[in-house]
Amino acid sequence: MCNLPPKFHSVCRLCLSFCGDNCSDVKLPIFDRDKDKSRLSEMIMANLSIMVSPEDLLPQVVCGGCAHKLDEFHTFRELSHKSERLLEQFVQYANSLSGPKEVSYQYYLFVYKSKVK
Ligand SMILES: [Zn+2]
Repeated sequence: MCNLPPKFHSVCRLCLSFCGDNCSDVKLPIFDRDKDKSRLSEMIMANLSIMVSPEDLLPQVVCGGCAHKLDEFHTFRELSHKSERLLEQFVQYANSLSGPKEVSYQYYLFVYKSKVK
């Protein structure tokens, strides 16, 4: 640990980007002060399956670009999971209908548009 270059901890944990002292790219701390968890740390672990801890010896910051991608990916992941649940519900609904098995596509669109977002 003592042999690490002084700026090792300024490198983005996710993409390894580094810029010098005059760089305007803001690095965001993965962990809030006094907290073991933060929204960023939870998104990294949940979406990327990378374990991060305030006690590990790796950089504790991410660049703005990675934070943005992580946010978009998190939103996409949540949308995908909601869609999956709605599709499963739709199949259950369709299977529960008696009589002709034709289900209105308009109903499907209505459900989709009203519940996803
Ligand atoms: Zn980055």
